[in-house]
Amino acid sequence: MSRKTIEVDDRLYDYILETSLREPEILAELREETAGMSGAGMQISPEQGQLMALLAELIGARRYLEVGTFTGYSALAVLLAMGPEGRATCCDLSEDYTAVARRYWKKAGVEDRVALHLAPALDTLDRAVAAGEEGAYDFAFVDADKENYQGYVERCHALLRPGGLLAVDNVLWDGAVADPAADDADTRAIRALNAALKEDGRWTISLVPIGDGLTLARKR
Ligand code: CA
Repeated sequence: MSRKTIEVDDRLYDYILETSLREPEILAELREETAGMSGAGMQISPEQGQLMALLAELIGARRYLEVGTFTGYSALAVLLAMGPEGRATCCDLSEDYTAVARRYWKKAGVEDRVALHLAPALDTLDRAVAAGEEGAYDFAFVDADKENYQGYVERCHALLRPGGLLAVDNVLWDGAVADPAADDADTRAIRALNAALKEDGRWTISLVPIGDGLTLARKR
């Protein structure tokens, strides 16, 4: 029974949500609005948001760094968990998607706690390092273009404090990572990151098969 992770079919997934999801009303609203948009598949699943909120609470996170904000669900989930002391730095390129994020952050009363950077995230992260923010963050979430994943993870390592937590999304890429026939650039980039993290002794890691696969890595 416990040899491997259980397969979650639709019925079991519904059960998981019914019996364990405590989604704040505002996140449910945001999820519903995003579901009607193009690119809706980029939103994290609600149980993943709940896991990230729990992790933020566990490590007493106060500063959250996000690479790939989309319509703001993950940032809002973490901001709500961090409470009034929490601050988020969010990187994205889309004015349209983050306009939705801003609207919900405002509605939730957290908009003053978010610094949103609409610029290539590698540049934003490099500027943060140059500005002396090394070790300043407790929690970082990487969920953006896959070809830059290793670059993002490297910069997050610099920006996280020792003991800080990195979460990397889509590390199973809908199963393509294990499909020998899949050879596109995104799949190759995710495989390369997964392989690199396994060998990288600077992190304690666990690949959690939630959503589309979430690697958790604690900076040693
Ligand atoms: Ca994602």
